[in-house]
Amino acid sequence: MDLDTIRDVVMARGREDLTGLGAGSAVLAGGTWLYSEPQDRLDRLVDITGLGWTPLTSDDDGLEIAATCTLAELADTAYPAHWPATRLFGQACGALVASHKIRRMATVGGNVCLALPAGAVLAALTALGGSALVWWSGGDEWIPVSRFVIGPGQTLLDQGDVLRALRIPAANLRSRTAFRKLALTPKGRSGSVVMGRRDRSGALTLTLSAATTRPVVLEFPDLPTSGELSATLADIQPDLWYDDPHGAPDWRCHITSVLAAEVTAELSGANPSGDRS
Ligand SMILES: Cc1cc2nc3c(=O)[nH]c(=O)nc-3n(C[C@H](O)[C@H](O)[C@H](O)COP(=O)(O)OP(=O)(O)OC[C@H]3O[C@@H](n4cnc5c(N)ncnc54)[C@H](O)[C@@H]3O)c2cc1C
Repeated sequence: MDLDTIRDVVMARGREDLTGLGAGSAVLAGGTWLYSEPQDRLDRLVDITGLGWTPLTSDDDGLEIAATCTLAELADTAYPAHWPATRLFGQACGALVASHKIRRMATVGGNVCLALPAGAVLAALTALGGSALVWWSGGDEWIPVSRFVIGPGQTLLDQGDVLRALRIPAANLRSRTAFRKLALTPKGRSGSVVMGRRDRSGALTLTLSAATTRPVVLEFPDLPTSGELSATLADIQPDLWYDDPHGAPDWRCHITSVLAAEVTAELSGANPSGDRS
């Protein structure tokens, strides 16, 4: 849609162009959300897609994903076979209710910064134990993605701060993963998405999203029994269960416990058959 309050669109060519992102300014990445609804408080957009950041860089330590990497680039890249956990990228991008056109434009950084409960790429990066490189106005810092989002649409970023990249350690990319999604309708927005990661020590990490106001990470030193899993889920703060037209909190809580049990079973080897999405 036309944003008729915008007076200035700047194509950033270097970091110096990102200074002075004041109250009426916003970072423009793929623009798939920014151009999808009125932005009455904005009069200036600073486009970061001209900065020329390499979308994906891998080395022995892991994978670095530029904030401007598109969802299509993330999902469609052929990763090394010894990084099976990268299949979460395709599954997460598939969980978004978005057309191919959106996938080609929308960026990983935009998905993380938007911090929607249905932000499945954000959830995948959380599930993989990723870190985020933030260019704060006062300096640079890597922080865990699990701490980056504080609520629906809310992150640690302040005016003028920019997400530069995301990094996933190689050991986590070697983990086995499982993915489940459920929505009220076959092509509807996710009501609950559960991602599991089992590392070589046997430890299990479950990441809950869509059903919760922000990604919730549950860590177990080994596979939990069904009683341990239920007790851990019952301990989740009630106000973390998300409430919107795509699902009531009690329904989301219930289906998340079903999906979490399925993910746990799959990663125990009992049901290696894969997804139900
Ligand atoms: C039809 C449709 C369906 C969608 N479905 C989903 C869905 O199911 N789940 C979901 O999560 N989203 C969904 N979206 C929202 C959006 O398309 C995605 O979240 C997308 O990944 C956002 O990326 P973008 O690059 O287009 O962000 P933009 O629209 O460019 O920006 C989004 C926000 O993030 C900020 N931002 C972007 N990059 C940075 C950065 N590097 N540093 C600081 N701030 C930054 C922008 O200032 C803006 O506030 C949907 C959108 C549409 C139009």
